[in-house]
Amino acid sequence: MDCIFCRIAEGSVKSRTVYSDDRIVCFHDLQPQAPVHVLIIPRKHITHLLDLSAEDSGLMGHLIAAIPQIAGILGLKDKGFRIVNNCMEMAGQSVFHVHFHLLGGRSFRWPPG
Ligand code: 5GP
Ligand code: ZN
Repeated sequence: MDCIFCRIAEGSVKSRTVYSDDRIVCFHDLQPQAPVHVLIIPRKHITHLLDLSAEDSGLMGHLIAAIPQIAGILGLKDKGFRIVNNCMEMAGQSVFHVHFHLLGGRSFRWPPG
């Protein structure tokens, strides 16, 4: 299976890394939709949120718990940010390796488009 985010996680495709550890990677989105737009992914290939199982709870907890540190690196702790996950095509998912968008540096509308 050829997955662009697996390739980014293993380093065979380059990205602008913001944060990385043994379980997750955070890197800048290629087509930013806000002044700050990064993606946070588990190194493990999981297609989307509906493929999570109980054994992934530690991994995903670790990913969520890294958000404050990532927000600090990006200078977003004062004004806040938005976290987005698109699950499957109708929600706009285009890369089928689970990821969270972290967007900041501007105001956002609600509800989203
Ligand atoms: P989705 O549409 O699946 O929620 O989000 C996928 C995101 O991945 C998009 O915002 C897109 O710009 C980004 N993306 C796709 N391919 C690459 C790539 O090769 N490198 C990086 N850094 N971002 C990518
Ligand atoms: Zn993958």
